[in-house]
Amino acid sequence: MKAKSPLDIYKYLPKTNCMECGTSCMGFATNLIQRKQRLDECPYLDEKAKAKIAELIEPNIKEIEFEGLRVGGEEVLFRHELTFFNKPPILIIADESNYEEELKDVKSYKKIYVGKELRVDGILLKFKSDKDAFLRALKEIDVSIAMIAPPEVLKEALEVRRTAIGYADTSNYKDFLDLAKSYNVPVIVKSSDLREIKFLAQKFRKEGVKFIINPVLDKIASCYDRVIKLRVNGIMGDEDFAYPIMVEIDFDDVFYNAMASITFVCRYADLIAFGKADPLVLMPTLVLRENIYTDPRVPVAVESGLYAIGNPNGDAPVLVTTNFMLTFYTVKTDLESAGVDCYLLVIDTGGICVGASVASGRFNADVVKEAMEKFKVAEKVKHRKLIIPGLASRLKGAIEDATGWEVLVGPIDSSAIKDWLAKVWK
Ligand code: SF4
Repeated sequence: MKAKSPLDIYKYLPKTNCMECGTSCMGFATNLIQRKQRLDECPYLDEKAKAKIAELIEPNIKEIEFEGLRVGGEEVLFRHELTFFNKPPILIIADESNYEEELKDVKSYKKIYVGKELRVDGILLKFKSDKDAFLRALKEIDVSIAMIAPPEVLKEALEVRRTAIGYADTSNYKDFLDLAKSYNVPVIVKSSDLREIKFLAQKFRKEGVKFIINPVLDKIASCYDRVIKLRVNGIMGDEDFAYPIMVEIDFDDVFYNAMASITFVCRYADLIAFGKADPLVLMPTLVLRENIYTDPRVPVAVESGLYAIGNPNGDAPVLVTTNFMLTFYTVKTDLESAGVDCYLLVIDTGGICVGASVASGRFNADVVKEAMEKFKVAEKVKHRKLIIPGLASRLKGAIEDATGWEVLVGPIDSSAIKDWLAKVWK
């Protein structure tokens, strides 16, 4: 991104502070730099200002959208320098003869992880030999797709569905250029030779066609080397390489597929296609992707509230914890697997864990009292006892004074809660 400070953008904004975008003009400029808002959220920009700001906030790696998928758009080499923005979509490779089966796998596979449902994103449809069946598949597949076929097939296919097309190489790039310009779609270029990629990039850039680079996964080490060169040079300002990278993973060996996928999720695939929907590969890929593409600037939080675990009644214990997502799901899972019927009062500590929020003062007696009133805890149970985490033990007296409830200090580790309750909660 060329803009170094919100002031670089602010000077092109109307400066009326009308708040229609939800904030002031300076706030909007700041949010554009932090990629928290999009340019079209200000309705008062003329075309000239829009173009100038768009140029200033364009990511270091171009962002490309097709079929609801967003690829690339990254700013940094390392997540801790800012954040990574767009999780690489995961596609499963299919052709016109087997797409129904693969579509079922795409739709059925899911991994539940810290309360989220992680899923495969779509299909990479490759032409095999039957054009009519290929065109039929394009109509019937109801998830996101990209398509790989010879230019003469793509010409008809693009009348059916406009999405990313490939693979362009040095022998056919002119046909792909024509198609991309006629149908306004991005192209996937494929080569294991960086000089060829540069040649193709220059041809496509000159015509204003957006493209994704597939540097060919022949061996993990050599492809990794190409990917690193592409991304480092792209981020450092080489305009030819500042485009999203795609990796197609289809070894015979599941171990190699898993190893390749975790390698390229870490560095720097923006789009991944697998030969098949193998759970042994998808599970680590989706979980790792979720972690790497979590914004380190934003604490991972759940909604505060009073959560019923099992079937609690008026005698059920009430436990308090924070809204840090990992704490919440750890405690909730421990309680559920222990078969404890209880209430879990989740207080808003801004997504900060118990130890840090007690130390910083965000977990305090007033916050607990407010949450108890807001979520009507007293109406749910007949007793007046509250169980706080072991790490919050020093707040026992203050919470008792603020709420009038007896406070019991639970274990530090929620996995010990079952045995602890068996002794304490009669
Ligand atoms: Fe400023 Fe536009 Fe936001 Fe209004 S909508 S406050 S003019 S940036």
